[in-house]
Amino acid sequence: MGNSVKMRFRIGFGNDIHRLVAGRPLILGGVLIPSDIGAAGHSDADALMHAITDAILGALALGDIGTHFPDSDQKLKNADSSIFLKETLKMMKSRNYQIENVDAIVSLEKPKLKPYIEKIRKNLAEILEVELDRVSVKAKTGEGLDAIGKGDAIKAEAIVLLTEKPNQ
Ligand code: MG
Repeated sequence: MGNSVKMRFRIGFGNDIHRLVAGRPLILGGVLIPSDIGAAGHSDADALMHAITDAILGALALGDIGTHFPDSDQKLKNADSSIFLKETLKMMKSRNYQIENVDAIVSLEKPKLKPYIEKIRKNLAEILEVELDRVSVKAKTGEGLDAIGKGDAIKAEAIVLLTEKPNQ
């Protein structure tokens, strides 16, 4: 990295969309959701994990998930997307930042995510190494409209706030 301006707070935004198809697992925030359709993609297509990863990269102005973890990389075929998030956290830590909180929205027509939200939050909090009350995940439907509403796609959006770690 070249000269970088040290900032106390950094905010980042990420989103992701995947097509829903038969014969693929539906994985969100590292949690397998029972569903007869799942997300198509090169990796495990965990849209929520991808959006959070992109938000952290964005907060640090480090580009995007596709640059760091390209879908042309055969090693990443069906990869567990927590790999991307964990690698991104390493980059964050090396720059002396920590996660203050994450807020995310998953838009999906079905299945209903409510029964899985707590499990998803817990899993993400564990990976992010933060308390549970710093991780928010909300679920929405597409109200029968657009690709999400028709059940053809899943979308995730995430926003993250990083703070500079106090010197120990
Ligand atoms: Mg993705």
